[in-house]
Amino acid sequence: MMKGVPYLVTVAILALAFSLASAYDPSPLQDFCVATENANSGGTPLQDFCVAINNTNSAVFVNGKFCKDPTLVTANDFFFSGLNIPGNTAANKVGSSVNLVNVDKLPGLNTLGISLARLDFAPYGLNPPHTHPRGTELLVVIEGTLLVGFVTSNPNKLFTKVLNKGDVFVFPIGLIHFQFNVGQTNAVAFAGLSSQNPGLITIANAVFGSNPPINLDVLAKAFQLDKNVVEYLQKQF
Ligand code: MN
Repeated sequence: MMKGVPYLVTVAILALAFSLASAYDPSPLQDFCVATENANSGGTPLQDFCVAINNTNSAVFVNGKFCKDPTLVTANDFFFSGLNIPGNTAANKVGSSVNLVNVDKLPGLNTLGISLARLDFAPYGLNPPHTHPRGTELLVVIEGTLLVGFVTSNPNKLFTKVLNKGDVFVFPIGLIHFQFNVGQTNAVAFAGLSSQNPGLITIANAVFGSNPPINLDVLAKAFQLDKNVVEYLQKQF
């Protein structure tokens, strides 16, 4: 009987481990991954690393990217340089710039569930309301003063805060959020995101600037706007 107890515990642990391993689908690593015969799995890494390669001569895309031959991997596959350089905040109407270091720029991030961004703001520059469909964002302000916030899914409650140098704020995965420089100087922030490819949906651009455009009646009714106003907004994006 005494020998049976550790055996049962072992069986129970194995059963639990198996159920945990099989109970969840791997998280998506891009917007979609329509199944083919060669479908592969993303999710939790199954080896120390899986440096991404761009399979330009293959029509097959997996959830995430293929792994580079580990014997060919070098330190540079885990390296990125340039986040000391301020972004160009004059290149757009909103006065902000985001430099996202995701798996496309840093192949060593493949399957690791993390990425990094530098955000620059001109005075009164705005990172407009947007969501990251695959990543939570953890932001730290390095310079300046940012008004930030996110809105919950249902009800639409706003959580907002003014951040100064050294302050940290978290934007939960998928929720609409923004950052606005309310100071008279430039602002700089860095953000970690919990995906190798968190994705970005800027609300105004997606709704009024999609290609092809969303039906005018749909937008007029959804936003309770005159169709002329919808057409005006569509021209802005
Ligand atoms: Mn964001």
